[in-house]
Amino acid sequence: MQTVTVAKGDGIGPEIMDATLSIIMAAGARIKVEEIEVGEKVYLAGNTSGIAKESWDIIRKNKIFLKAPITTPQGGGYKSLNVTTRKFLGLYANVRPCMSLHPFVKTKHPVMDIVIIRENEEDLYAGIEHQQTDEVVQCLKLISRPGCEKIIRYAFEYARQYGRKKVTCFTKDNIMKQTDGLFHRVFDEIAAEYPNIQHEHWIIDIGAAKMADTPEAFDVIVMPNLYGDVLSDVAAQITGSVGLAGSANIGETCSMFEAIHGSAPRRAGQNTANPSGLLQGAIMMLNHIGQTDVAEKVQNAWLKTIEDGVHTNDIFKEGTSKKLVGTKEFAEEVIKNLGQEPSELKKVRYEKGMSLNLPKYVRKSPSKKELVGVDVFVQWNGNNPDELATLMQKTDLEEIKLSMITNRGIKVWPEGFDETFCTDHWRCRFKTINGHPISKKDIIELLKKAEENQIDTIKTENLYHFDGIQAFSMGQGQ
Ligand code: NAD
Repeated sequence: MQTVTVAKGDGIGPEIMDATLSIIMAAGARIKVEEIEVGEKVYLAGNTSGIAKESWDIIRKNKIFLKAPITTPQGGGYKSLNVTTRKFLGLYANVRPCMSLHPFVKTKHPVMDIVIIRENEEDLYAGIEHQQTDEVVQCLKLISRPGCEKIIRYAFEYARQYGRKKVTCFTKDNIMKQTDGLFHRVFDEIAAEYPNIQHEHWIIDIGAAKMADTPEAFDVIVMPNLYGDVLSDVAAQITGSVGLAGSANIGETCSMFEAIHGSAPRRAGQNTANPSGLLQGAIMMLNHIGQTDVAEKVQNAWLKTIEDGVHTNDIFKEGTSKKLVGTKEFAEEVIKNLGQEPSELKKVRYEKGMSLNLPKYVRKSPSKKELVGVDVFVQWNGNNPDELATLMQKTDLEEIKLSMITNRGIKVWPEGFDETFCTDHWRCRFKTINGHPISKKDIIELLKKAEENQIDTIKTENLYHFDGIQAFSMGQGQ
């Protein structure tokens, strides 16, 4: 018997959770429910995180969390509980299967069956943002080697376990050579350990277009957080409805299962919501905790119900659908079908041990790290980069000289173009003239001189070589 933490959430949450629990309990799930309150009521009671400390204790004790969607109140500085939960509990892998149910649910893509595996903890979702000048704000995009290794290994292990043939990686590493470049490099390294699974990489823009147009070309797709967030909604929607897809958030000790959609407040209390997304989340949960027999029974009964044309309003279409039902009645129909299987849609067979056992990340020995320069970011309200260069050269040290100025990444000095639009946010790159490593004291010296010359320094970034390899991007146009 497994104790599962359950949160019924907001909006349509309680209705779809009741429907989901009634189905899995009727199927014989060996679980005990421990309920907690999260979301809107908790936020509005003055807790900006949307969850009480005692609820964290319960989630951490039980380790398995089935969560209905919640409403994050707009404004007021409320933090998204979903993002906080994923990060606090180290739920690094977000797994979102998106499958067409043709011809029973109307879709432009009859043979779509893809699983999006989204990195869940880092990237721009670190949420580290600062305003630096009057005109420019910044959001830090953090990509880590452990983050990449964990999610990419998860994708290949998932493919192996679930008999999938190919893993595709989407990044934008033609532009972001350091961050997305690392993700792509780690993908190639780990792919080499799985010779029986095909692998390929697509630049995200054309990859996304191809996925929306020809999803049958893909199987498992792994990607960094932001791309995965956007594209998993697209993928779910093009199967027929966002109401159909579930999502698993997996960590080393805890995991959380949910629907991919939100709390649909306008539908709340009307018994019209489709409980299928949350039910799919619950089926992933049952597989994860080893109750594959129950998971299989529920999934086959659900497929049969969809195949019988018993549909909620979001997927109901005259002609293909047979019976329009509410949330509760849909659950009752699935329960009636327990023990039966679909005849046209592919029935599922889940093997024992569907949960993946991945190795813990082991930190590698540090590389040789050499400081070879510094990017000094300044606010300057002029327009002519030559004037800024003259000012910045006042901070040159004997061995460390201004080598380049960029504005929003594009080189404007030396030899910039008059046509380039410039903001008040400038990056001034200082490098050693003889290639010798410098010390932090040199940087402090340089900044002191900047201060003496009334230069408004807003931040610095050190320029490093790791094991002799340049580890920073060039200026655009350099
Ligand atoms: P939403 O997913 O709630 O709704 C988008 C559209 O899809 C609406 O038209 C809705 O009626 C429909 N829809 C969604 N789920 C459905 C279902 N099960 N059956 C039938 N139709 C369904 O997205 P939104 O309107 O952008 O967000 C509403 C709230 O949900 C916001 O407060 C948002 O912060 C929150 N949200 C929560 C989660 C989560 O808890 N994981 C995820 C996304 C959004």
